[in-house]
Amino acid sequence: MVWPWLQRLGEGLVDLVFPPNCVACHGPAPEYLCASCIASIRRVERPLCHCCGRPLDLLSVSPESSFRERALCARCRALPVEFDRCRAYGWYEGALREAILALKYHGKTAVIPALAELLRRALDEDPVLSRARTLVPVPLHPRRRRERGFNQAELLARALAAQSGRALRCDLIVKTRYTRPQVGLNAEQRRENLRDAFAVQGEAAPAGPILLIDDVTTTGATFHACACALRAAGATTIYALALARD
Ligand SMILES: [Zn+2]
Ligand SMILES: [Zn+2]
Repeated sequence: MVWPWLQRLGEGLVDLVFPPNCVACHGPAPEYLCASCIASIRRVERPLCHCCGRPLDLLSVSPESSFRERALCARCRALPVEFDRCRAYGWYEGALREAILALKYHGKTAVIPALAELLRRALDEDPVLSRARTLVPVPLHPRRRRERGFNQAELLARALAAQSGRALRCDLIVKTRYTRPQVGLNAEQRRENLRDAFAVQGEAAPAGPILLIDDVTTTGATFHACACALRAAGATTIYALALARD
């Protein structure tokens, strides 16, 4: 165990010799993600599916469509999700993708505060998600967590909780089954792959809206599986927020 002050001194010396660089473009960046890379991130533009947050194709909607058809995307109508609402800051491409890859696969945890700031913006912008009281990161299976050394969703949720003054429950959901990677699976296969893979530990879910946090969402299968576990534990309102939408 390294003394915290010694570690800070060490980090300070490293910063003097090697000034912090942007994890995406490698230019100088005190926050490890530079302003021009942040500005280059393509946001997920409205109109969005009321539930999953994917862009809605308004051309497929006629004036006679019901509210449900106008508010929900085709996927949410065909394969309903257990969470009430999901949003993401930007598309999983360019600088945002580079930053997430640097975090997950090169251990660049120094970029966490800058990425959590993006989550905070997305949270503040959405009047529904803003009601969330408790942040819950999507857990990794203990084996995967050991391999990586950390859970990026937990680090993001921890920083977001500190920045936004919300409660944090990292221990609430556990991943009980090791599952194969979701890459190459379609929406239904992803959902099947994660069936009953998460469980709520201990007592009932906390009162008030819960916000699940993850780095990337694709079809929403992971958020759905976590929401099923929360719902079974008595959670009434479940939201989800990811940095990026793939
Ligand atoms: Zn940059
Ligand atoms: Zn949808």
